[in-house]
Amino acid sequence: MTRYPIIQSPMLDDIEHRLRPCPTYCHGFLGEDDRKLVQILTEDQGTVHALGLTHIGIAERLRSLTEAARGGWGDPELVDDKFFVEVHEIRGKLPCPWPHPGLYQKGFARLENIKTGEKLVWTELSIHLIGEHGFYEGKGSPYRLDPKDLKRILEL
Ligand SMILES: [Zn+2]
Repeated sequence: MTRYPIIQSPMLDDIEHRLRPCPTYCHGFLGEDDRKLVQILTEDQGTVHALGLTHIGIAERLRSLTEAARGGWGDPELVDDKFFVEVHEIRGKLPCPWPHPGLYQKGFARLENIKTGEKLVWTELSIHLIGEHGFYEGKGSPYRLDPKDLKRILEL
């Protein structure tokens, strides 16, 4: 516990409320993570900076890997001689939990690093959340993309 209560803006309180488990996103974006949203954002920002990366750079890499594999229609495509990437299209869209208009495809991409066998899964919404909001989801969320994992598995 910190000595002082964590204060965040009412806007972040609203967003945090939408990110907690609810009928729309059954697992919630925060998983078991009971930290305030502002703490999650700040800690991940610090980690990304310490790794020498940027939110936008990570999001662009995820986007380019998705685009490179889109022609495979769900079959694994070899990308950059380093990764197998499959893109699965699913009908339907999800809104961003931040207050702005924007709908993102429900499909997902799955990547395997051929050398290590490590895997990552992301969606169009995860790319947006990282690139625009610096949000990697909470610890314990099944879709968390930990910046350290992204750096290692994507060889950034
Ligand atoms: Zn957004």
